[in-house]
Amino acid sequence: MSFVVTIDGPSAAGKSTAARTLASRLGFLYVDTGALYRAVALKMQWSGASPDDPAAVERCLAGTALDLSGSPEQPHVWLDGADVSGEIRTPAVSEMSSRIAALPAVRRKLVEIQRALRARGPLVAEGRDLGTVVFPDAEVKIFLDADLATRARRRARELEQRGIPVPLEQVSEELERRDRRDRSRADSPLRPADGAVVVDCSTMDVDGVVAEVLRVVRAHHAWPGGGAPAAGRGG
Ligand code: C5P
Repeated sequence: MSFVVTIDGPSAAGKSTAARTLASRLGFLYVDTGALYRAVALKMQWSGASPDDPAAVERCLAGTALDLSGSPEQPHVWLDGADVSGEIRTPAVSEMSSRIAALPAVRRKLVEIQRALRARGPLVAEGRDLGTVVFPDAEVKIFLDADLATRARRRARELEQRGIPVPLEQVSEELERRDRRDRSRADSPLRPADGAVVVDCSTMDVDGVVAEVLRVVRAHHAWPGGGAPAAGRGG
């Protein structure tokens, strides 16, 4: 089985930047599981299906093809053969993704897709339930946290850079609402996995987080020590 590093944590804690940098440094595949939830949310939005209508959600899921590709520097998410990497990053899709993520039928389908990715090689996977549900036997599990104010500032800056300026207070409210939903849902709630190393990065930069995780990875008894096989790189 391939070596797996999981990074879970609340929204905008810096998981993506840390996971992408790590995957790149290790030569591992980068798996953004949130992108899969966002792609399903986008499809729901396009089809006008309501997340409160379980039959409509099932119908939407049944005819949906999803995949991840690319490198840690340029990851892509595919929905029914179309590259939707840009479209999934709007606040409306964020909100919809957090609602559909509470539905067991959605989680079942996406967990299956995520587990199958392990056959492609060693990976760094980020999300909310990677260490608890998707890869409970992962070699290294990290729970990356940061206080709400820090996370809201980071997300507001990110949205602004994408040309979607949103007032800081609104960003903060949206993050808090999504996190509450993620932590309180019955199926796969957000929490640190057993054995996870909890890293609070409120006052750390990305280099500090990456250095900390690399230390944990290299200390693992199954760490091969050398470079990763080419099959582990995104393609
Ligand atoms: O990580 P990101 O913010 O892109 O994820 C979008 C939404 O998908 C989150 O708000 C969360 O509700 C859901 N999600 C999840 N489990 C994962 C990844 C994301 O429930 N493993």
